[in-house]
Formats: sequence, C-alpha cells, structure tokens
Amino acid sequence: MNRVLIVEDEEHLAEGLRFNLKAEGYSVDVAGDGEAALEQLIEKNKHFDAVVLDVMLPGKDGFEVASTLRRAKNFVPVLMLTARGRPEDVLQGFAAGADDYLPKPFELPIFLARLQGLLRRREWLRASDHVNGKTKPASAKTGSNAAGQDTDVFSFSGKTIDFGNLQLRANGGTIQLTLMEAKLLRHLVRNQNRTVSRKSILEDVWGLREETDTRAIDNFVVRLRRYIEKNPAKPKHLLTVRGVGYRFVG
Ligand code: CA
Repeated sequence: MNRVLIVEDEEHLAEGLRFNLKAEGYSVDVAGDGEAALEQLIEKNKHFDAVVLDVMLPGKDGFEVASTLRRAKNFVPVLMLTARGRPEDVLQGFAAGADDYLPKPFELPIFLARLQGLLRRREWLRASDHVNGKTKPASAKTGSNAAGQDTDVFSFSGKTIDFGNLQLRANGGTIQLTLMEAKLLRHLVRNQNRTVSRKSILEDVWGLREETDTRAIDNFVVRLRRYIEKNPAKPKHLLTVRGVGYRFVG
C-alpha cells in the first residue's frame, strides 16, 4: 500500500484529499504545517511514497519544506500544489526540489493521475522518451531490476546517468537526482551538440507555456554543473549559449 503525506493547513481540503486517497487504497497521513511535515519526514524519518505539499502554509512555506528535505538528502517524490496563474511558483517549486506541480483549484481525477504518475516515476521517466542511440541495455550490471527491463543509462566522460533510477554516478560516488533534474538532463542529452533554448526547456521539460522568468532554469543548470563538471565555473559539458540557452556536449 502506498503511503502519502499531505501537507496542507486548510483542513477541509486536507480531509477531502485524505478521504479520496483512502478510497483509492492509499495510506494517508496529514501534516497541518511545514514544521510538522519535516518532523515526520526528517526527525522521525518516517517512510512515505510521496508527499503532497501545498505552497501556502503558515510558518515555513512549501518551497522551504521542499528545499529542507532535499538538503537533508530526502528524495521522496513531491507533488507541489501551487496557486493558479503563478508560473513563478512553479519555477520556484522546481528550484526547491519539487518533482511535479498542480495548480489549485484542481479536479480530483487530475490530482490522482498526477500522484500516480509520481509514484510510477521511474517507469514513467523510462517510457517518456529515450536517449537517441545512446540507450544501453543493463548487461554491464548484474541483476539490474526485478522486471528484467533494460536500464536506461547514458555514459560520457567517466560519468553515468541512470535515468531509470534517477542517479548520476561520477568519481566513485552516486548522486540522487530529482525527477526534474533527470528530465532536464535527458532533454539536454537527447539534443546533444545542439543548442536548446530556455523556452524549449520551459515547454518540453516543465510543460509551461507562459512567457515567464527563466532564471529557475539557470539555477537548475548551476546545480547540474556541480554534479557533472570538474570545474563548474568553466563547464566542458553543459555550455551556456549566450542569449539563447544551453548545449550539452558529451
Ligand atoms: Ca494552504
């Protein structure tokens, strides 16, 4: 049974979600504010399969909760509930480490679909698209996964991105990527040696159509550079194309 933590101070909404999720067979906990959520997730280290995190909370807001979680190396999938018509919320949410977002108010079936999508994130990411000609089977690894599926990995310059498991292996270490970090990397890798515009990243990776501030993308790139570049100040793989966007070079 999947266990979900709902972080929402509006009681009627939290209870409505709890009721409906239970009816769908989920096990549900509710936290009324960010502090209570972090206590469950970090201090008590309780396991949840996903967190539904409202942005508007008393005290610590959803952005702060998400970034605190990620700093604590907790990579539970986070579905962030944002205010409609505020694309900057979406971008700030992704920058804080959210995996997906849903603007309020939302239709229940959409909410359930997004949550299921998040819970299936690995399969979903694997199926969403594949790295052109660079997808390798899991033969190099033993056991790979229980279903015997090919593992979707991309290697370059001594580093390996495992899109299926949302991991980046480099210098003997493993970095856990968020879903959106992996999606952005995949988009760049798939367009290897081609310039990708910020607009296309907004549209193709984040599903945003709005003309909006693209600085959140730059923040993501800064983070990815820290993961993959020897000297992030002088990138060799993730290049800035001034005034346009970015280009990945393997
Ligand atoms: Ca709220």
